[in-house]
Amino acid sequence: MKKDTKKAENAVMENIISLSKRRGFIFQGSEVYGGLAGTWDYGPLGVILKQNVKNIWWKRFVTDREDMYGMDAAILMNQNVWKASGHVGGFSDPLVECTKCKRRFRADQLDPELRKKNECPECGGKLGAEKQFNMMFRTHVGATEDEGAVSYLRPETAQGMFVNFKNVLDTFHPKLPFGMAQIGKAFRNEIAPRDFLFRTREFEQMEIEYFVDPKNWKPVFEHFVAEMHAFIADVGLDPKKVHELEVPDGERAHYSMRTIDFEYDWPFGRKELYGLAYRTDYDLKAHAKASNVDLSYFDEEAKVRFVPHVIEPSFGVDRTVLAILADSYREDELGGEKRAYLAFSPNVAPVKVAVFPLLKNKDALTSKAREIYQVLRKEFGAVEYDEAGSIGKRYRRQDEIGTPFCVTVDFDTIEKPNNPVTVRDRDSGKQESIPLKDLVSLLSQKLNK
Ligand code: ATP
Repeated sequence: MKKDTKKAENAVMENIISLSKRRGFIFQGSEVYGGLAGTWDYGPLGVILKQNVKNIWWKRFVTDREDMYGMDAAILMNQNVWKASGHVGGFSDPLVECTKCKRRFRADQLDPELRKKNECPECGGKLGAEKQFNMMFRTHVGATEDEGAVSYLRPETAQGMFVNFKNVLDTFHPKLPFGMAQIGKAFRNEIAPRDFLFRTREFEQMEIEYFVDPKNWKPVFEHFVAEMHAFIADVGLDPKKVHELEVPDGERAHYSMRTIDFEYDWPFGRKELYGLAYRTDYDLKAHAKASNVDLSYFDEEAKVRFVPHVIEPSFGVDRTVLAILADSYREDELGGEKRAYLAFSPNVAPVKVAVFPLLKNKDALTSKAREIYQVLRKEFGAVEYDEAGSIGKRYRRQDEIGTPFCVTVDFDTIEKPNNPVTVRDRDSGKQESIPLKDLVSLLSQKLNK
């Protein structure tokens, strides 16, 4: 990669990271103690952005469907879950350590030239032999620290659904095909966390295990390809930046017969955003064998018993948040002034509308603005009231946090017969005067409510 392109990419990432911090979206984890590599903390605006993503996902994949069962399984699970799933034996990445500076790298992510020469990218020292490094965080449950007390922070949410498959069958008696869905934390002791929220050690996943008769897996797989694109559109990502990669034989996870990686054009290159895998009956069979519990399904019509196969769409919450930030970040000039702003889709914007009185020391203006703020809050929920600083400054702040519309109350609003307010559009900076009685319907239209 050319040096200049690399520099520009870094600049984009630095701008996103600094805006995220400056405006209260995302902070470095444990910052006052110098941080903890691979962890990030969501601040007041970040947590709303993230929650909006999760709500949109839950609505599309759970609430709006009749065939999906929501779950929230424990993060700590019996160690036998991870033995049966193959994670204890095989959830590892290739690790190399520099014999001189002792830094550790993922062998498959090193520059191929340096890898060939066995040269450390940091200090030029000699790299040691490649070892397999298990990425699960190991811990002990209870007061004893013997092998029987070992547990792991889950590295994926999927297994919490497989081990509850029978519970859902026995309590809801669903007919195939049906799915289980879960949103929750996952932990991976990544060798080289990097690129802000892209590769972290603690993150959230939104996963579905969709159970099918093996005869029918193909159309279901295609259905979820389309649904994943639909979700990508729901959160406002540019579809031109999303690419399907058919993962070839030999490169797929051991359990998968077909995998499509949904890759995204990040500022640092094209890499995975989401994954869709055909996991066959690998997991249910492995858990049935290891636990001695029957995890088969009885088809009442055909009078046959079999172990269902699984299609798994898997989404990273934090990668979605980063893609939204990267996609929305813009710089331009407005009224002769440079500005940076986030062109969030209204669906995900943490604040939908901001309401300002023109001046803060005029009671007539502030009380009218507060009255309008209360009405809009009931209607749209995420609405802010702001009276501090000049109007220009208030607009800039709302632009930076991605608020689609600002409403300003001035003397015309209280003096003129139809009480006009000014509605300003974030992206164009255009302002229009609207009779107060039309405000809610106009904003509803603009916010696609
Ligand atoms: P990668 O190849 O990038 O390490 P993966 O193929 O191991 O990813 P999966 O095991 O398929 O990832 O996990 C499903 C989803 O979880 C990914 O598509 C991604 O969105 C998210 N994810 C995985 N690892 C991380 C991580 N370390 N930090 C943030 N999100 C992650």
